[in-house]
Amino acid sequence: MYCVNCGVELKDSEKLCPLCGTMAFHPDLPPQNGEGPYPEYVEPKRRFNRFGTLFVLTFVFLIPSVIALLIDLKLNSAVIWSGYVIGGLTVCYTAFVLPFWFKRPNPVIFIPCVFVAAELFLLYINLATGGRWFLSLAFPIAGISGLLLTAVAALLKYLKRGKLYVFGGAFIALGGFSMLIEMFICVTFKLRFIFWSIYPLVACSLIGLLLILIAVCKPLRSSLDKRFFI
Ligand SMILES: [Zn+2]
Repeated sequence: MYCVNCGVELKDSEKLCPLCGTMAFHPDLPPQNGEGPYPEYVEPKRRFNRFGTLFVLTFVFLIPSVIALLIDLKLNSAVIWSGYVIGGLTVCYTAFVLPFWFKRPNPVIFIPCVFVAAELFLLYINLATGGRWFLSLAFPIAGISGLLLTAVAALLKYLKRGKLYVFGGAFIALGGFSMLIEMFICVTFKLRFIFWSIYPLVACSLIGLLLILIAVCKPLRSSLDKRFFI
């Protein structure tokens, strides 16, 4: 038997090292006074209290909404501006707090929720201001953005490989989407089609094709891997 600190040889009967005073550790003998040679592993307690945090965050969003509504009702006897406050806060709540309601937040579920909340908020603004831009502009743009993001999130989550193809495809879709955005703007505001969307279309398509090229060409991918550690 040897001292764990200084390495001097010890007798089995010795409880302390005679040289350095370190407690002797005899792996063959049952531990004395109930203490093992090293502390037992205690699993660290999870600090994050999900329900407590949710409770506080919900109040953080609820209180300004209620205050805004009360002030608005007191001053104007109607919902004039507090609707925007409540709508905006609801969209933020959906985006930042709603995922924490789930133990394992699934982006494929909560991304569409955020976009539905945003669509409803935009519809409210449109109705409240007497606008004519919801159906031909806000609804399709937010809807297509939501579908695109949800599709990317779903593919990344459920496909184990081929992330580069997903990103490449997403960039090309984004380029095509810019053309649709120009079309929606022209229809809504009765403008002339000047094809500004051709620039984002070309840029996004080039990035997308480059990503797909990297995905297809294995030697290119491995040389990039080595150079940039991606
Ligand atoms: Zn010692």
